[in-house]
Amino acid sequence: MSELKEAIQLIGEDKVFNPLTLDYFTGWLGDRNVGTRYHVISVFGSQSSGKSTLLNKLFDTRFDTMDAQVKRQQTTKGIWLSHSSNIYSSEAANQSVPDFFVLDVEGSDGAERGEDQDFERKAALFALSVSEVLIVNMWENQVGLYQGNNMGLLKTVFEVNLSLFGKNENPHKVALLFVIRDFTGQTPLESLEISLVSELEKMWALLSKPKGCENTLFHDFFVPKFFGLGHKVFQPEQFDNDVKQLGDLFVDQDSSFFKEEYHTQLPLDGWSLYAENCWDQIEHNKDLDLPTQQILVARFKTDEIATAAYNKFLDGFKSQITDFLDGKELAAALKCLKSTCVDVDYDPYASRYANKVYEERRNDLISQLNNTIDETLSKFITRTTFKYIEQFHTEAKDKSLKIPFKEKVESALEKAVQRFRTDVAPFSDDEFISDFEEQVSIFEARLNIEIADLQEHELNTIVARFNRGLTLKLKDTILRLLAKSTVNIWDDVMNEFESYLDGNLKKYTDADGNVDFQTGAASEVNEKTLQILQKNAWSFLDHTIHGYLTEDNVVDILRAVFNDKFRYDDAGLPKFWKNESEVDSSYRLAKSEALNVLDALAIVKTKDNVEILIPEDLAESDDEEADYEESDEEAGLYHQQRFSHILSALQKDKISIKLKQFTDMTIIEAKRSIVNTTER
Ligand code: GDP
Ligand code: MG
Repeated sequence: MSELKEAIQLIGEDKVFNPLTLDYFTGWLGDRNVGTRYHVISVFGSQSSGKSTLLNKLFDTRFDTMDAQVKRQQTTKGIWLSHSSNIYSSEAANQSVPDFFVLDVEGSDGAERGEDQDFERKAALFALSVSEVLIVNMWENQVGLYQGNNMGLLKTVFEVNLSLFGKNENPHKVALLFVIRDFTGQTPLESLEISLVSELEKMWALLSKPKGCENTLFHDFFVPKFFGLGHKVFQPEQFDNDVKQLGDLFVDQDSSFFKEEYHTQLPLDGWSLYAENCWDQIEHNKDLDLPTQQILVARFKTDEIATAAYNKFLDGFKSQITDFLDGKELAAALKCLKSTCVDVDYDPYASRYANKVYEERRNDLISQLNNTIDETLSKFITRTTFKYIEQFHTEAKDKSLKIPFKEKVESALEKAVQRFRTDVAPFSDDEFISDFEEQVSIFEARLNIEIADLQEHELNTIVARFNRGLTLKLKDTILRLLAKSTVNIWDDVMNEFESYLDGNLKKYTDADGNVDFQTGAASEVNEKTLQILQKNAWSFLDHTIHGYLTEDNVVDILRAVFNDKFRYDDAGLPKFWKNESEVDSSYRLAKSEALNVLDALAIVKTKDNVEILIPEDLAESDDEEADYEESDEEAGLYHQQRFSHILSALQKDKISIKLKQFTDMTIIEAKRSIVNTTER
């Protein structure tokens, strides 16, 4: 431990800043986070004026001192730094004393070596820019000696210092503690104080001041304090006692020695970087701009802290955030990771740096976090959406549930939206999602697309079932009617057709004429579906009739009509002809019946002689016909009539001829049978 107490050379004789400074801080402090609760004290004054001796006694440090025995042994030049937490004071214990960092400037005797003025001046400037309290060590007899080494140097330092701090709106103030060594008390301290202050003010008035600082006062930048110490050798007890009293002033944190405005307000780790930058600028005689330095340090350090905090967040994120978390767990985990990152890992360390820089980097960090969180959230929402859409499908298609399609879909929809709300709600509570209701709406819209698909599928099923019914039930009825055609064939067919439509379609139209297939589909969709069903029915009727009534089939039908009328009486019993005239009259009757049926079959019309057309909006349109240059009206009429016009005049002639061949054969046969009977 005592090794650690040794001072280090902060800036060596070669004027290089010690790169291990931060390591020394760590060595001295361990992992204690000091923050801004520390003080920096420097000493300034001519060589061999007992500076190091005073510091060692006051702060319990081990700065080199010139051995009283081996006189004039030069101590190592440079600026030395030591840590102290033990102040020589009249207090029994210094437990609550914060960490002190003490800078001892070891120059050479300026009187002897003029060229080293440069180092003295730079060292003094440096001490001024990094310290809260600058101890100006002087002999009593040096007071009032304006030309004296100390005061001359002070003037230069003040001048440069003014050019550095003068333009700053909130100047960094420094307490100048004048310690009068070998103070005899012959001239009271108050008198020395008055003459020193007036000398300083006079000196200040004579400074060449930079533009904008012409009216500044010494007191704007410095707070002078005074203290006298007895002669170390001749009054050892007095000296000891005086140092103790001086120590009391340092121990007392409320003493006027430590004010916020004296402190650089940088956390300790930032201080070393700041000090290094200050030294670099002083050493290279750059235009020293300390506020800028503070901002640069703040940027560097806040960025370092934010990056570390963010990386830690990412580590936690990788290990904790999985696809298996539910909404509540995920929201809680993200909230915890985010607040740890900002409140625990960033704020306490970074908030000590320049407020503007701290806040800027904080906002950046938060938006960095939000990006990662938003990405996770949108993945979660996508996952949740898919999960509940799948579940929605399962429920909407559940065949074990014996409730109508529409109700099934409605209940599945309600459940899906409720589940989605429950899962996503924790994110709106934690303010990760500002537009919760919008997210729900998006999900609902997504579901509605699914529902429209399901409805379409359901309607297609209805259409298919209807079509199947046409073939399975209506076709047979119509074919049987056609096979036994009468002159009323079309009234009979249309009766069957219409009653089939009534039986199968009426249930989809309510009392007000609104079409509804009970799928929850929109009314236009319903109307359209009904039209498809009707179109299908007409098309079916069209194809069934035209398909069946071929020339050959019509001949067969007419033969049957003829046969029936010719061979059977009204009671359905076979006829027995007694003579040819009976045969002839039967023949005429039967033939005219057959021809009447042929006329009836040729064109679809009611018994009141009104041609039956496919309703205009239900007629099939044939795209191939579009090549003809005909009006829509003509084309429509063609399709309507194509249905009703079964047989052309030419076809009728052909059929008549074939029928005649049959009827002729039949009558000949019948007449022969009479001959046969009479001959017997
Ligand atoms: P510094 O390095 O210039 O600050 O001076 P040192 O602390 O090395 O002391 C230089 C010499 O002054 C040493 O021989 C000390 O014993 C002596 N010394 C230290 N304190 C006092 C003091 O208060 N009065 C006098 N007269 N001599 C002192
Ligand atoms: Mg010394």
